[in-house]
Amino acid sequence: MAFDFDLFVIGAGSGGVRAARFAAGFGARVAVAESRYLGGTCVNVGCVPKKLLVYGAHYSEDFEQARGFGWNAGEPSFDWPTLIANKNREIERLNGIYRNLLVNSGVTLLEGHARILDPHKVEVNGKAYSAANILVATGGWPQVPDIPGKEHAITSNEAFFLKQLPRRVLVVGGGYIAVEFASIFNGMGAQTTQVYRGPLFLRGFDQGVREHLRDELTKKGIDLRFNSEVTRIDKQADGTLAATLKDGAVIQADCVFYATGRRPMLDNLGLENTAVKLGKDGFIEVDDEYRTAEPSILAIGDVIGRVPLTPVALAEGMAVARRLFRPEEYRKVDYQLIPTAVFSLPNIGTVGMTTEEARAAGHEVKLYESRFRPMKLTLTESQERTLMKLIVDAKTDRVLGVHMVGPDAGEIVQGIAIALKAGATKQVFDETIGIHPTAAEEFVTLRTPVAQ
Ligand SMILES: Cc1cc2nc3c(=O)[nH]c(=O)nc-3n(C[C@H](O)[C@H](O)[C@H](O)COP(=O)(O)OP(=O)(O)OC[C@H]3O[C@@H](n4cnc5c(N)ncnc54)[C@H](O)[C@@H]3O)c2cc1C
Repeated sequence: MAFDFDLFVIGAGSGGVRAARFAAGFGARVAVAESRYLGGTCVNVGCVPKKLLVYGAHYSEDFEQARGFGWNAGEPSFDWPTLIANKNREIERLNGIYRNLLVNSGVTLLEGHARILDPHKVEVNGKAYSAANILVATGGWPQVPDIPGKEHAITSNEAFFLKQLPRRVLVVGGGYIAVEFASIFNGMGAQTTQVYRGPLFLRGFDQGVREHLRDELTKKGIDLRFNSEVTRIDKQADGTLAATLKDGAVIQADCVFYATGRRPMLDNLGLENTAVKLGKDGFIEVDDEYRTAEPSILAIGDVIGRVPLTPVALAEGMAVARRLFRPEEYRKVDYQLIPTAVFSLPNIGTVGMTTEEARAAGHEVKLYESRFRPMKLTLTESQERTLMKLIVDAKTDRVLGVHMVGPDAGEIVQGIAIALKAGATKQVFDETIGIHPTAAEEFVTLRTPVAQ
């Protein structure tokens, strides 16, 4: 049977665009449908605008710290609408780049909602297209728990477009998005409270890292409330939101921001017309080559709920394109040692095992740790401290995990991730000459293990 396309991609986000472009580059006839925004979550309401806001939020400290170096720029003031307008302009520019990338690589771009009609047919804007393969790359969507007054809460989707900076913000959640937005709002000058139902935020990160960040965010004035939960939100006559916590306390805020998890985006996708199966959390189930239970349908990225990060979606998109259309270059995605950052202020950068994971996996571990005040802050009033941590297998000397909390942690740990991928031992770290004076050199000068 002749199909209209060799590959029909649903969703022009991180994974979908990568798969489409590479497949077209390998000579396949490819279509992409996008219902909302080119570039997907990362470009429009995720990584990119988030990082721009984090940069914006850091300026409050920069102005403060500049005084220690003799600069006096007067009383700084901040204008949220200017930042948002400039951010929007930059995102529009990126949307245009994504459009060009697709069109110039010969991909047919269909702007509209895609619905699967049968295992080889997709409908967009009332027209049906047939395809040998369909790739679902529809991403995720924020989820707010069902509590009274949930309609008064916003999520990351709305936060990027707030007209004004709220004076008081309540952030609900303990994952990286919640932590990052707490830093953003706090850095911009909003009175910020963060509520999380567990005993400490950033579950899954190294315990020492979590505690260090807790202390740093507290120093910066964020009111952290753990083991706490919002039970209802009421809007008062003057527009103020009153969030009641489970212990009865009430927090008054102008904005209640939820980052309590994301669900797969499957709305009106037509999966009921296929044999595609969902896992227990509702994400699409795939095998290790991204095949669903329906042989002609594949899925990648956040919608499969594996590792919801842009570089992972990109790698999965590339793997699908290669396996289908350039099998001689196909390599499986390696999910080991994925480095990651949290763009809180200060940042976290991490790769490899946490102390708890290493011990649970049966490693006898040696821990190396350094806590210090970064040189850049020594002339300032800032009491922010950096944490650097290495987790080493005592028997093999192999470095199992590297963790940092401090300025540019993501930038530093990205490089170290390459060393870990290459199997670096602690001896290799020790034999590496430092770059002086930097914070990063601390990673190659950690000589004495800390007490276990
Ligand atoms: C606030 C926030 C911050 C983040 N920060 C980072 C970060 O710093 N680093 C990082 O690596 N990751 C970050 N992420 C995660 C990252 O954005 C995602 O992992 C990534 O975008 C997933 O790519 P994807 O291709 O699976 O889906 P997406 O990028 O979400 O793309 C899916 C696309 O499909 C479209 N779509 C959905 N259904 C249909 C349909 N039926 N028809 C047509 N189109 C459809 C959507 O409109 C969307 O454009 C962040 C996410 C959020 C929310």
